[in-house]
Amino acid sequence: MAISHLYTLFFLFFFSIIKSHVSEQENTPITRFQRYLQFKTTHPNPNYTAPITFLINQSKSLNLTSRTIEFVSNKPVLIITWIGSNPKLPSILLNSHLDSVPAESEKWIYPPFSAHYDSNNGNIYARGAQDDKCIGVQYLEAIRYLKSKGFVPIRTVHVSYVPEEEIGGFDGMCKFANSLEFSELNVGFAMDEGQANLGDEFRVFYADRTPWEVVIRAVGEPGHGAKLYDNGAMENLMKSVEMVSKFRESQFDFVKAGKAANSEVVSVNPVYMKAGTVSSNGDVMMNMQPSEAEVGYDLRLPPMADPDVMKKRIAEEWAPAIRNMTYTIKEKGMLRDHLGRLIMTPANDSNPWWSIFKQAVEATGEKLAKPEILASTTDARYIRALGIPLFGFSPMKNTPILLHDHNEFLKDTVFMKGIEVYESIISALSSYEGVTDQVI
Ligand SMILES: [Zn+2]
Repeated sequence: MAISHLYTLFFLFFFSIIKSHVSEQENTPITRFQRYLQFKTTHPNPNYTAPITFLINQSKSLNLTSRTIEFVSNKPVLIITWIGSNPKLPSILLNSHLDSVPAESEKWIYPPFSAHYDSNNGNIYARGAQDDKCIGVQYLEAIRYLKSKGFVPIRTVHVSYVPEEEIGGFDGMCKFANSLEFSELNVGFAMDEGQANLGDEFRVFYADRTPWEVVIRAVGEPGHGAKLYDNGAMENLMKSVEMVSKFRESQFDFVKAGKAANSEVVSVNPVYMKAGTVSSNGDVMMNMQPSEAEVGYDLRLPPMADPDVMKKRIAEEWAPAIRNMTYTIKEKGMLRDHLGRLIMTPANDSNPWWSIFKQAVEATGEKLAKPEILASTTDARYIRALGIPLFGFSPMKNTPILLHDHNEFLKDTVFMKGIEVYESIISALSSYEGVTDQVI
């Protein structure tokens, strides 16, 4: 009995040595992904220092060069570079963002920064697993595989990591894209994040919609709650709300009839209303028709929408001055570039980058879904606005769309397949020697 007990102790002792040895040594694409997911990069206080140190170490292990630029203090942009054999050719840029939206830990099955690997189903749970730390790691892992095979790119490949995307990118990609440092990269084609697909194809995005924040205000004579009179602020605002609702319906009808995707129409949604006169005890005075009222809308315009037509509609129908109404429009992006062109990348064979990209994905046995406009907005818009072709793409198929959701996860096999897909894409794009670099 005593002897067998001793054996058990010895076994446990040696097993624990082996186990700790394995976990210390374990350094695989999956564990590197987990490590990157464990950095708390959520707003409002994202930690950018730790993930950047990690990424710089990764780039060193791959013999790549890296540099960090701070356009705004404590909001660093990291650029990792793989120099091509012909660095004079316009380069390839692979972008992702460092930051993530917050996570309500109590609503998750595993802590959102534990990057828990569920061995039953292969899912890795973490905030950022889909949006978009997966691609940030996959780019480098694909380069690791290509290097191990002795592949040398012709075009230089840059991998960029930017801050602040989740809060509009104004201190991140917006400043970076408009900097001298960016123009010196001489980018000919770029890629940025996309979204997961429940189906068996990868989604690809050739444009983003542009957000407008529209506030409509009405003023008028105040009056007693019992009085019927014309041109009160509330009456005029309500008329305006009706007009906007009709327009919203007309756009939504296209979607319901299957004539357009959600992202191909102008969406307009009310986000707040403000009116009423407050008395000294904090209650709204119910016997008082107020002299001011306002409503705020979130508008999203697809690239083909005409901004001038939209502005005319707002001025003449939604907020006519003749009814004592005013409005403000905050355009959170551009619908046309400096040459007046639509900000979208052709996703057809007129664009050689499209053909190369598509063939590279298909070479791995995968398929692309019909190219789409992204319903929301990413940093891609700042790069496309420069006239640089860009596709939004995150190779996640058979995967529920969980960006910004509880229990965001990515399955190990999907993550690994993505590396293979990027390997094919990066080798094809960086080997392209065609002269048509600016295709838009
Ligand atoms: Zn994202």
